[in-house]
Amino acid sequence: MDHIFFDNSATTRIDDRVLEAMLPFYRTKYGNPSSIHSFGEEAKEGMEQARERAAAAIGAMPEEIFFTSGGTESNNIALQGFAFANRKKGRHIITSTVEHHAILRTCQFLEEQGFDISYLPVDSQGAIDPDMVRSGLRDDTVLISIMTANNEIGTIQPFREIALLAHEMGVSFHTDAVQAITKVPIDVTKDSIDMLSVSGHKFHGPKGVGALYVRKGLPIRPLTYGGGQERNLRPSTENVPGIVGLGEAIHLGMREMDASVSNMIRVRDHIIEGTLGMLKGTYLNGSRKRRLCNNAHFRFDGVEGEAMVLNLDFHGIATSTGSACSARSTETSHVLRAIGLTPDQARGALRVSLSKFSTMEEADRFITAIEETVKRLRSLAPAGLRKGGREG
Ligand SMILES: *Cc1c(COP(=O)(O)O)cnc(C)c1O
Repeated sequence: MDHIFFDNSATTRIDDRVLEAMLPFYRTKYGNPSSIHSFGEEAKEGMEQARERAAAAIGAMPEEIFFTSGGTESNNIALQGFAFANRKKGRHIITSTVEHHAILRTCQFLEEQGFDISYLPVDSQGAIDPDMVRSGLRDDTVLISIMTANNEIGTIQPFREIALLAHEMGVSFHTDAVQAITKVPIDVTKDSIDMLSVSGHKFHGPKGVGALYVRKGLPIRPLTYGGGQERNLRPSTENVPGIVGLGEAIHLGMREMDASVSNMIRVRDHIIEGTLGMLKGTYLNGSRKRRLCNNAHFRFDGVEGEAMVLNLDFHGIATSTGSACSARSTETSHVLRAIGLTPDQARGALRVSLSKFSTMEEADRFITAIEETVKRLRSLAPAGLRKGGREG
């Protein structure tokens, strides 16, 4: 039996072509890009091609791309690096309650450092109302950070409207595009985005490498100090094979975006319709329309998400209850709380996240397995639990 990987919001399988592109940078082109000999030169060439590709993917200039160790570091540099560099201008930052922990925990740290953070609420589908952003602006607001699309429930935020509004008001705008890149078209120039974070392993690249776009001239300071790499913003010898992999993955991802997105939408909609149609007491979380092409997020009455994940794993299907980072904690997801679910309702959550490799056959196998799983778990559940949360 082939295993099915439906947990692509946690991470993705590396594309074979990406791995192939990386291997020479381990085997033969292993120079340090700062060295002036030919080993250094070819390493630097690989890295600069990756920078051009990352820039081209989002409509930026190569010198506006900084390579990092992943989405988390990109978000930290964006928020902390910007906040400390601009503290004399103002100390107020606007973000949302549904951001990734790499944003939320960084904001908590900034609060401890004397910054003031507003966490905007979302509607029942997980979307932010741009008018709320407008009315949340203050004289001392310096930065707005709103994710492009949510990693749990897949809601695509009105990031263009919010970026435009920020631009009009002279406030800088950052977006965590880790889930959206290669799935949602983004143009930092047209969309007036000042900073944007991506991570290689979420789009079939390697783990442990990311990028941060910073608009040219935007005041920002580093969080670490060293040898001056990445124009002093992120010193340390560059992860050349990883960077080359990110470059290849973003290049392929953009080139094949249209076909990949339509495939994922087809598989996603089949899963959503098949699952909702087959089982009573089953709901889709998030928005039906403004939804990432690879995300289906369900809630089942009277079944524990964790039990479903383990049962589906027994069927050879990898899914998740929410974000990978909190999958092992028992705390209710902050995103599900933010869309108004009770802890009881949130316990029945299941995230199915697809990739460009997902197929209709896999979707059919999932639908059969989820039906069996939910029926079996409901037959085992005590009557009290089975009745819970019917209204929503
Ligand atoms: C995965 C993820 C991150 C963290 O990226 P890493 O490369 O794992 O550090 C940040 N934001 C979002 C929305 C994510 O999905």
